[in-house]
Amino acid sequence: MIGLHLEIIKEDVIIMGGGMAGLRAAISAVESNPTVSVGLVSKLYPLRSHSVSAEGGTSAVLNPKDSFDLHSFDTIKGSDYLADQDAVEEFVKIVPEQIYTTDRWGCPWSRNADGTISQRDFGGLSFPRATFAADKTGFHVMQTLFSRCQMYDRIHFYNEFFVTSAIIENNQFNCLTAINLHTGEFVAFQGKSLIFAAGGAGRLYEFSTYASSVTGDGDAIVYRAGLSLKDMEFMQFHPTGLIPSGILITEAARAEGGYLRNSENKRFMEKYAPTKLEEAPRDIVSRAMMWEILAGRGYKDEHGDTPHIHLDLTHIADKLEERLPMITDIAKKFNKIDPAEEPIPVRPATHYTMGGIDVNIFTETSVPGVFGAGENAAISIHGANRLGSNSTNECLAFGNVVGVKAAKWASSHEIPELERNKVMIEEKRIWENILKNKGGENVASIREDLRTGMDLNVGVLRTESELEKQARNIRDLKLRYENITVGDKSGVFNLQLQETLELGFMLDLAEMITVGALMRKESRGAHYRNDYPERDDKNFLKHTIIKYTREGPEFHYRDVVITKWQPAARVY
Ligand SMILES: Cc1cc2nc3c(=O)[nH]c(=O)nc-3n(C[C@H](O)[C@H](O)[C@H](O)COP(=O)(O)OP(=O)(O)OC[C@H]3O[C@@H](n4cnc5c(N)ncnc54)[C@H](O)[C@@H]3O)c2cc1C
Repeated sequence: MIGLHLEIIKEDVIIMGGGMAGLRAAISAVESNPTVSVGLVSKLYPLRSHSVSAEGGTSAVLNPKDSFDLHSFDTIKGSDYLADQDAVEEFVKIVPEQIYTTDRWGCPWSRNADGTISQRDFGGLSFPRATFAADKTGFHVMQTLFSRCQMYDRIHFYNEFFVTSAIIENNQFNCLTAINLHTGEFVAFQGKSLIFAAGGAGRLYEFSTYASSVTGDGDAIVYRAGLSLKDMEFMQFHPTGLIPSGILITEAARAEGGYLRNSENKRFMEKYAPTKLEEAPRDIVSRAMMWEILAGRGYKDEHGDTPHIHLDLTHIADKLEERLPMITDIAKKFNKIDPAEEPIPVRPATHYTMGGIDVNIFTETSVPGVFGAGENAAISIHGANRLGSNSTNECLAFGNVVGVKAAKWASSHEIPELERNKVMIEEKRIWENILKNKGGENVASIREDLRTGMDLNVGVLRTESELEKQARNIRDLKLRYENITVGDKSGVFNLQLQETLELGFMLDLAEMITVGALMRKESRGAHYRNDYPERDDKNFLKHTIIKYTREGPEFHYRDVVITKWQPAARVY
């Protein structure tokens, strides 16, 4: 296969990722520039991207009683003061227009009796500002964006193309290399500008609300190409992953009035967040649940041996059909529970990757013409902990910004000559080194060891010895990975090969998450160290910046941008 045939596809703007950020970027690229062409490359059919599963809502200041300052402050306090405040202030201002735009394009936002767009409460909000489409927000927004894309014959979809690397030469985007999953052919995508919108990385954990496709490919590809990543040690755990599958039970269930109860059948959040209770931000609720479980107050029942907490919605049964239909269905189908009558068994599950590509407030990376948006990027508005309902809006707002930026760049730049040698090296890595390797190790076993190790050692509550243990595990797993054998040698839909490449990405990311967590000797947002339980602004009010070296990740730190909110104690 190697060297036989290389297909070269050229477009003005290349987008890696067909989720909410990628689709929004594609639309704004073609709408802001009448001639530009877009190549949207996605390993999935776009409507299978993880964005489709977003449930509870998307925050926007729509009500005159609400304000940009309030939305900013909620976000910054939620981030445990690690968000860049200039980025947050910009973000909250550009979100509302996106809600109205998607409304005009046909998104069926849930509405009040008077016809205005309805908004609900969410964790850590001081005003109910989450707009929603029942509990299927992602599904409806994605349908809307995808339909809109169909209006433009300048948006070309390359669905089921698996990107393996990005080649950046002379500080300029040269190409993405990809496998056409349908044929097994190797492809180079060239463009004048490039947008990374490839989503998060949470599937390097076992118990997760993420689709199995969320393997951090975009982050790892950027890292290997020599660009910086930011704040990777901050992985969000959502309090209510359904036992045992990890499927998300939306935070909206608590925002609509649901209770969390321990095995003594008692609500316990008063101890941990006396005002906000179950509606405190996710990091705080997740920790509270783990502390209850560690104190022996977790349930072990017919839903499994893993100790868990009960999410009780029985007292809001009248709201389930209208406001929470999807999670009602999920509980019935997957656990044979009717939430109107019985509590739902839940436990914290990985849910969001706060870290990502180091981009500035304009979505720019350090390479001119290369941009990042959506969960793949860390602008950073989420800092150490994202508030629920603050991601889909980010995809829309900065997806719009990045599309305009990339189209503008493309209108005044050319596609460079293809770096064929570099493409050949990547082709050889895959078809010779990986596919023909006979070492005997297998992808499923390394992946399982990685994920269970991450769950155990780099979870909600972290300690030095466990983190060190996992750092060692990962080094061993990386050695085993060098001896991996892909059983399927064929070209057409070789999912085993794809999973092997994804595992390689996850091992790189797991290493930087674990080592980054080890080096951050404080507790902030989703990163909680049992051995350093306090936030340490003197030493760690800083972003972690991560660079690739042959010896492993290199870390340095950058000050957080503060505009008008000085770090303060975070009480809810
Ligand atoms: C269950 C769940 C519920 C959520 N609910 C909410 C909510 O109510 N409100 C909210 O604000 N946020 C919510 N979130 C978070 C939010 O949905 C996501 O952060 C956001 O949708 C991510 O969008 P994205 O476009 O960045 O990435 P994704 O939607 O994950 O898309 C990534 C894209 O990249 C492509 N890709 C990845 N790797 C490759 C590769 N190697 N080659 C080619 N293509 C590749 C994929 O094909 C895909 O198209 C939820 C998340 C989950 C998991």
